[in-house]
This record gives sequence, C-alpha cells and structure tokens, in this order.
Amino acid sequence: MVEKICSHIANRNGKNYNWKLSDFEIGAPLGRGKFGRVYMAREKTTKLIVAVKTLFKSELVEHHMQHQFLREVEIQTHLKHPNVLSLLTYFYDQKRIFLVLEYAAKGEVYTHLRSQEKGRFPEPRAAKYMYQVADALEYCHKNNVIHRDIKPENLLLDYHDNIKLADFGWSVHAPSNKRKTVCGTLDYLPPEMVQGKPYNSYVDHWCLGVLCYEFLVGKPPFETESQNATYNKIVKVAVVYPQFMSTPARALISQLLRYDPSSRIGLDCVKEHLWVKKNMKLASIANGVI
Ligand code: AMP
Repeated sequence: MVEKICSHIANRNGKNYNWKLSDFEIGAPLGRGKFGRVYMAREKTTKLIVAVKTLFKSELVEHHMQHQFLREVEIQTHLKHPNVLSLLTYFYDQKRIFLVLEYAAKGEVYTHLRSQEKGRFPEPRAAKYMYQVADALEYCHKNNVIHRDIKPENLLLDYHDNIKLADFGWSVHAPSNKRKTVCGTLDYLPPEMVQGKPYNSYVDHWCLGVLCYEFLVGKPPFETESQNATYNKIVKVAVVYPQFMSTPARALISQLLRYDPSSRIGLDCVKEHLWVKKNMKLASIANGVI
C-alpha cells in the first residue's frame, strides 16, 4: 500500500507535478505539533491514506524556525528506509506549507509506553523497537545524518507496530568537523552535549541507551527534579538499574551509556546483541509471525 502511494507521488514529483490541497480529502486531526496540525488525508487518485502536516509560514518566521524547518524537509526527503517516516512530497500556498507524510496508524510510541499497566514495555517489545531504531539510525549515519533527538515522542508506529523514526527538526547533516550546538531534551542528552563539547554521531548511540532504559523502566535514567541534578547524573553516568531488569538488558544499556563516545557499541552490535536477538524471536512468536 505504502509503496503504491510512494510510487504514485514519486512519479508525479518526477514530472514536476504541482501538488495542491484539492488533490487530497482531508479527514480527522491526528495531532498537534509545535507549529501546526497533522490530519489524516486520502490522496484522491490512489485513495490511499497519508498524513498531511500543515504549518503557517508566518509562525515559522516569527519563531525563527524557517532554517530548521527547511533542514528537516531537505533531510527527510532524501531518507528512504522502512523505519524512517517518509516525507512523500510537499507544497505550499500563500500562507501555509503542507507536508505529505507516510501515515503512521498507531501514533506515538510515547502514548503506548504511558498506557502500559506498569508504565514499561515487556522486554520482547522493547527489543523489537531497539532493533528497528538501531537499523534506522545506522541508515541515517551512513547517509551522514545525525538525528540528535531520539525519544519515545519522536518514534511513531505503523499499523503493523513497526517503528517510523520521525521529527528530523534537530537533525544535522553530519559535518566533517564536529559541531557544538546544544539541543534536545536534557534527559536524553549525552555528557559531551551537556558540557558543550564537540560531538558526533555517537550522540545517537547514547540516546539509544537512554531509550532502552525508558522502555524497560518507564522513565529515563537521569531524570530528576532539577536540571542541575540531571546534569550531574549525566556527566557521572550515574545509572541505577532496577532489580526486575534482566542482566543482558543491563549489559546492552551499559554498553551504550558510556562517557567516552567512541567506547559506545556500534549500531550493528546493538542489532546483533544477544538480548535483542533472543527477545526479537519472542516478539515475533507473540505476534504470530512464526
Ligand atoms: P508533530 O507536529 O510532528 O509533532 O506531530 C504532532 C502529532 O501528530 C504527533 O504527536 C502524532 O501524534 C501525529 N502525527 C504526526 N505525524 C504523523 C503521521 N505521519 N502519522 C500519524 N500521526 C502523525
């Protein structure tokens, strides 16, 4: 289904077709972001469902976000991976910009995590998501893109419960010289970023460790009442693992949450990690795949 609309849209894009709002039937609102609303929509020719994000040009300019926005569009247009949310096309009128996105039927991972009875995912489910996020990030890094803002709010799920990495608003084309900009939520930031040091793609490896911890515990490892205390915990890599977390899961997280960026394990190693492989199998059995 997704392939069909992708190829239809790509075909028209290739012919320099001028997309317009009337090419879509706009349906229910799906959510609201910092700068606009997202609606479910149906492309009239193929009848296939997409998500249309609308943004007001004036709001972007008012908040000096036009450059960040253009970067997001530029990056997301070029990334094509099953676990990266596709930006299919975009168009604009005098006041608004419309982004036509692949539809992620199950919404944010954040909502699913919060609605779990214990506030955390069972290990097989967490492992499946970890594999898919690692695979998406590996692809991004190979294309010189660092995401920099991995967290459950920026991970969407399709109908089949597969990860769609979204929100490239903070991502950068990895420069040859490392950058020093500080951005993102403090809870997920690695030591080199909170300390204002240069950083590289290994920031995403750290975030993956924080993400895995939040999946399995229900809150990120460095969360505290104050920014100062969080800062101190991050630079000391002060992680407390609860009793209920399995030893291999702890091992994986501790291999990602390393102060020295270059000693964090590779994304290929995350995908091949014993805990991930064993639990992926359990997840697919639970889903009736095998
Ligand atoms: P955003 O402006 O990207 O933060 O999106 C706001 C909300 O809209 C998100 O939290 C999602 O719940 C929803 N949303 C955004 N993009 C999509 C999509 N492609 N498919 C389904 N829901 C989406």
